[in-house]
Amino acid sequence: MGLNVKKNDKVRIVTGKDRGKSGRVLFVDKKNGRLIVEGLNVVKKTKRPDQQNQKGGIIDIEAPVDISNVMVVCPKCNKPTRIKKKALGDGRHVRICGKCEEILDKV
Ligand SMILES: [Zn+2]
Repeated sequence: MGLNVKKNDKVRIVTGKDRGKSGRVLFVDKKNGRLIVEGLNVVKKTKRPDQQNQKGGIIDIEAPVDISNVMVVCPKCNKPTRIKKKALGDGRHVRICGKCEEILDKV
């Protein structure tokens, strides 16, 4: 499976504790096939004291989600969808929604 998820896509988590929730992609780690989704897969992490926070403490951070555990949500039909590719005719390809065929990339 190719890496069809890009930064700023809206995705829905399809497995795990946050199954069914959706959020915006903040970061894609292409090398490891993982991504960070805003507000999802949040874990508690102990933070060492630093200059901003003298005491340190427990903070919430988003842990990476495996790319195979999310589906892109189409901004038009608002459904989780399989991404298809479409040739533009000038050698470029864009991602389209597998359901309504909305173009998901800026062209
Ligand atoms: Zn759609």
